[in-house]
Amino acid sequence: MSRANDTEILLPRASRRGFLGAAAALAAGATLPHAGPALAKAPLAKNQAPYFYRFGLGQAEVTVVSDGPLPLGDPGASFLGVSKETVGKMLSDSFLPTDNVVLEQNIPIVNFGDRLVMFDTGMGFSKAFGPTTGRLLKSMEEAGIRPGDIDDIVCSHAHIDHIGGICSADDKALFPNARVHISQADFDFWTDEAKLGGPLKAFVAHARANLLPVRDRIVFFKSEAEVLPGVTAIAAPGHTAGHHIFNVSSGGKSFAFLGDLTHHAVLLTENPRLEFAYDSDPKQAVQSRVRLLTSLAENKTPVMSFHFAWPGFGNLAKAGDGFRYYPAPMEMLRG
Ligand SMILES: [Zn+2]
Repeated sequence: MSRANDTEILLPRASRRGFLGAAAALAAGATLPHAGPALAKAPLAKNQAPYFYRFGLGQAEVTVVSDGPLPLGDPGASFLGVSKETVGKMLSDSFLPTDNVVLEQNIPIVNFGDRLVMFDTGMGFSKAFGPTTGRLLKSMEEAGIRPGDIDDIVCSHAHIDHIGGICSADDKALFPNARVHISQADFDFWTDEAKLGGPLKAFVAHARANLLPVRDRIVFFKSEAEVLPGVTAIAAPGHTAGHHIFNVSSGGKSFAFLGDLTHHAVLLTENPRLEFAYDSDPKQAVQSRVRLLTSLAENKTPVMSFHFAWPGFGNLAKAGDGFRYYPAPMEMLRG
């Protein structure tokens, strides 16, 4: 197809005249602004903006830092309960790749003014999902937050990508002044030595490597109770027995940190009855997901999702039998 034909297709008749007129003037030697010799040659930059994002919450400030993307691989192997074709169509209809589901790991650090509280910690030194994870400390450095300044780490559950960043491979606490808050049900299940010989071995070994060295700093929180001032635990069992989400509030504003209530803005949100291969009890996980997403949507509570597309902050609304996620616009200027 010739360029002239492209123009005919792309521009309505009136615009086409204007466009062709400008092109003719240019060809005749007229100068347009910025039409100088600007054929600059530069190497491709290939770097990216720092991996943190900041926003206000009442009197508090939230800094989301990333542990890096976590590629799950073949979606048909992880998302169950409907055909692989249906999963593939849901992804392609949302303009997402159908051969690999890539989750983010969005970790909010909330500065309440008198306390720095981090929610979940990423994969840490485990490379079970490839080399792109384990970036937490680098992202914190980019954000200007020192590990020694973290007062509390609040864990949604004890899976490998949520407790993995608490200790180094040589058993050192990476956040030397932090207390670690987790449900007793998850601590007991995922640090159980007897499971080291079974199918959950990799998850149990990583939970033991991260939780046992800081055992004397672990505090067990209770469901539907305050974990810390401004942080309340809400039971969301099924993904793991002791999985919780958290209400985080300051100065009359709040959001819910979703942990693994839903891993994906399309697959487990638009169709919340889909099951996830890593759920301990998929049926119970579906019940928790539908019940809590319904409540969050009805109350218009903003959500901070660990695994949604960066930086994972937005709102949920009912849509048919499921929910639609509306990412909040990123505000890149803060006064
Ligand atoms: Zn997870």
